[in-house]
Amino acid sequence: QALTLAIVGRPNVGKSTIFNRIVGERVSIVEDIPGVTRDRIYARGEWLGRSLNVIDTGGLEFNQADFMSQIHMQAEIAMDEADVIIMLTDVRDGVTKTDEMVAKLLRKTDKPVILAVNKADNPEQRADIYDFYRLGLGDPYPLSGSHGLGLGDLLERAFQLA
Ligand code: GDP
Ligand code: MG
Repeated sequence: QALTLAIVGRPNVGKSTIFNRIVGERVSIVEDIPGVTRDRIYARGEWLGRSLNVIDTGGLEFNQADFMSQIHMQAEIAMDEADVIIMLTDVRDGVTKTDEMVAKLLRKTDKPVILAVNKADNPEQRADIYDFYRLGLGDPYPLSGSHGLGLGDLLERAFQLA
């Protein structure tokens, strides 16, 4: 039984970067689910011998929906389809109003949510992740999509929680 992981978060925090990292480096792609033309939203592969599906909810688009509705629907899809949800944020921006809104939506699900703080490229930035505790989603996991840091711990945690 494959673990389905969904990445949720406001635009520009690095969802697609992390998705590609997971799929392209840590995960060998077994097959892409067809029907996605604009962006690769779903990918399937494995990590340390375990099957994994990843959903980049940021690649989902809903016609004529405003920014908040888009994020709302992306969170709904994640809560529907995923076994474990990764809420992604950006350490350089800190906690934003939109992050608070997304976290509030995600706190309603019984499914496990892991809070990941991307763009923690250096030790000073990794020290800044503690502010994210106030999103009420537990321990923040530092990531650097650019440098490929932190993904092992994150995926290990995801499999633990599934
Ligand atoms: P999305 O909108 O959430 O899918 O975000 P993207 O993956 O498109 O990334 C948005 C921008 O952030 C791009 O310019 C990325 O190169 C940059 N970015 C992503 N991850 C990192 C990171 O770990 N560190 C830094 N410094 N930049 C990053
Ligand atoms: Mg994207």
